[in-house]
Amino acid sequence: MKIIVCVKQVPDTAATMAVENGNISWGDAPLIINPWDEFAVEAALNLVADQGGEVTALCLGKEEETEAIKHALAMGADAAVLVSDPALKGSDNVAASKVLAAAITKIGEVDLVLFGQQSVDTDTGLLPVQVARLLKWPSLTLVSKFEEVTPAENSLQVVRSMEEGNQIIKSLMPAVVSVTKDYGEPRYPSFMGIRKASKAEYPVWNLADLGIDLPSSSISWPEVNEPVEQEIVTEIIDGDTAEEKAKILVEKLIAEKVL
Ligand SMILES: Cc1cc2nc3c(=O)[nH]c(=O)nc-3n(C[C@H](O)[C@H](O)[C@H](O)COP(=O)(O)OP(=O)(O)OC[C@H]3O[C@@H](n4cnc5c(N)ncnc54)[C@H](O)[C@@H]3O)c2cc1C
Repeated sequence: MKIIVCVKQVPDTAATMAVENGNISWGDAPLIINPWDEFAVEAALNLVADQGGEVTALCLGKEEETEAIKHALAMGADAAVLVSDPALKGSDNVAASKVLAAAITKIGEVDLVLFGQQSVDTDTGLLPVQVARLLKWPSLTLVSKFEEVTPAENSLQVVRSMEEGNQIIKSLMPAVVSVTKDYGEPRYPSFMGIRKASKAEYPVWNLADLGIDLPSSSISWPEVNEPVEQEIVTEIIDGDTAEEKAKILVEKLIAEKVL
């Protein structure tokens, strides 16, 4: 099987974010692979371990931002492609999905494209569906399990995890799948993997290599603001026994209409 995993580079989730001169800043905090994308890499590696084939990590980002790709390679991905072009600055989701779809088409003969559920910085969760639409492939979102994958029949059966329960979906391949964290813990990169990834070479494609022009962004970010400060009141509940404290807590929650 040929599987592409789309990985994004994002600021460390532990970083303190601030708005400076109308832009979002995370200071000197390091950039990391989008944590949701590690589940997608894990799923791709397990599928290839079962079925044979190869995993390619695909990232759209600046040329010097290599952490997401290196992390995917260190986890065990076989190859990587970075798409980077100064014209991508300011790209919205419509442009990003067009670029990713073109890169997937250029890589060619792909059975599955895996995504994380969403990115932790811009957080739209839209790219998997937008890319599927451009490729005209089925889109399976919020997948927590791959039940049956039969490359000979171009078919797969997956479990979608939703709040209300699970949904079993059968689909044809090629398909686009977004993977949730319910899939299971991603592996840590091995020492050997990290060493291999640090020396790995991969192509960097620009828009001319992909043969596309970018659509102009139809949405913009006219203003970015800090979240409104919230006043938090802490109250320690007093009582002689745990039962009494629990009773008082429940009464307060009912009074506040939380329950
Ligand atoms: C007006 C505007 C200007 C913007 N300017 C910039 C800019 O200058 N620079 C910039 O970096 N972003 C910019 N963005 C944000 C950029 O458009 C989004 O990051 C991008 O469209 C993906 O959306 P998302 O991050 O919400 O991903 P989601 O849809 O939440 O992500 C879902 C999954 O898609 C995959 N994915 C997401 N992003 C990438 C990626 N880059 N490469 C590979 N896979 C990916 C991952 O698997 C991820 O888990 C801008 C957005 C707008 C609206």
